[in-house]
Amino acid sequence: MRAPDWLKLGEDHVWRPYCQHKTASDPIPVVETQGARLRLPDGRELVDGIASWWTAAHGYNHPHIAARVREQLEVLPHVAFGGLAHEAGYTLAKRLAGLLPEELDHVFLVESGSVAVEVGLKIALQAAFHRGEGHRRKVIAFEGAYHGDTFATMALCDPVDGMHRAFTGLGVEAVHLPVPKEGDDFEGRFAEHASTAACAIIEPLVQCAGGMRFHSPEALQRLRRACDTHGIPLVFDEIATGFFRTGAIFALERAGVVPDIVVLGKALTGGTLPLAATVAKRELFEAFWDDDPLKALQHGPTYMANPLACAAAHGSLDLFEKEDMAERVARLEARLEEGLAPLRDRPGVRDVRVLGAVGAVEMEPGTAPASDAFAKRGAFIRPLRLRSADVAYLMPPLTIPDEDLELLFSALAATL
Ligand SMILES: *Cc1c(COP(=O)(O)O)cnc(C)c1O
Repeated sequence: MRAPDWLKLGEDHVWRPYCQHKTASDPIPVVETQGARLRLPDGRELVDGIASWWTAAHGYNHPHIAARVREQLEVLPHVAFGGLAHEAGYTLAKRLAGLLPEELDHVFLVESGSVAVEVGLKIALQAAFHRGEGHRRKVIAFEGAYHGDTFATMALCDPVDGMHRAFTGLGVEAVHLPVPKEGDDFEGRFAEHASTAACAIIEPLVQCAGGMRFHSPEALQRLRRACDTHGIPLVFDEIATGFFRTGAIFALERAGVVPDIVVLGKALTGGTLPLAATVAKRELFEAFWDDDPLKALQHGPTYMANPLACAAAHGSLDLFEKEDMAERVARLEARLEEGLAPLRDRPGVRDVRVLGAVGAVEMEPGTAPASDAFAKRGAFIRPLRLRSADVAYLMPPLTIPDEDLELLFSALAATL
C-alpha cells in the first residue's frame, strides 16, 4: 500500500504513543470508519478487534451519537464548568448517578481516564486529611494493575510487569498486593498497610492493560470487607470494565460489591469524544462540606464536562438503554468462547480465557505476532506486551456483526 501524503508530511513530527520509533513499523493509516470497520486509503477494510482502545462500544459513526453531538455543537460547544453550568453536564451527572448504586451520587466530569483516577485518589486523600488522618497517604493497589499514564496513576500500575518502570518511586506512595485468591492470607497483608492507607483501588473482575487477568467476585467481596474492617474507601476503576464489557452494565454489579468511588471512561462516549467521570459516595462528598473554602475539592480541568463530550455520552447511554445489552454481551461471550477455543493448543499459547466481551489469548513473552501480520488477514489486533506474557486479545465493539467476528477469529487462527 502506498502511504498517503499526509502520513509522510507528519511522520517526522508526530510522537506516537508507547512507540519505539526506531524499530516500529509505520502506523496503519485510516481514512474512514464505519460499524466495526476501519477503511484504509487503498479501499481495504480492517475489522477492529479492539474498538479503539475499547471505546467504540456501539461501533463507529453511530448516527444517533453523531446527531446528539451535532445538535450540541450548534447550540453550546463549550463553556467552563467553573461558576457556569450547562444542561448536558447537569443531566449527565444525574443520569450516571441513576445508573449506579444509590449511594454513589456525586459525579466529577473530566477529559481522560487517568485524570479521573487521580481525582478519585485526591478525593480519598483529601477526605482523610479533613478527618485529621493526614498520615493516610498510601494507596493500596494490586499486582497486574493498570490505572493510567499520569504520575499518580503510574505509581499504581504493576511495578514489575508494567510499562512505567522508569518512574518507580514517583507519584503517590503505593503498595501492590496480590489480588485475593482462595486460601491466601490477603487479610493479613492488607492489615499491614491499612493504618497508613487512604484508599484501595482495583479494576474489578478484569485487569485489562496489565494482561487481561481475571479474578472472581469473591476476591472483590473480600477486598470490600477488608476495606470496611479498616475504614478505608474502596475505588473501582471501571474505565475499561464499565458499560457492559463484562456483561453487566458495571462489573460492580456482576461482583455484588458497592465501592466508595467508581471511575468511568472509555465507552462512556462510545468512542467519539474524550470524557471520564469520577463518581463518589455522598459520605465522601460530605467530608468536603464546610465553611472553609480550602476544604473544597481542589481540582478543575479547563475542559471538564465539555458539553460536546457530555452530549456524546448521552447518545451512548441512549443506545445502551435501547436494547438488552446484557443479553447481547452474553451471546458475544458464547461466540468468543467458541471462536477462541481452537487456539488453545497453538504454539506459544498458555491460556485462552473469556469474560463478557473480553477474549484473551495469553502467550509466551515475545511470541505474539505484530499488528501487521493480523492486518494482512483483514483484522486490527494489537497484542499487549508485558514482561511475563504477550496477550493477543479481542475487545470488539459490542455490536460487532457475526461476519466481522468470524473474520477476527480466522485472522487469529491464520496468524498464531
Ligand atoms: C484506559 C484506562 C485508564 C486510563 O484512561 P485514559 O483515558 O487513557 O487516561 C485507566 N484505567 C483503566 C482501567 C484503563 O483501562
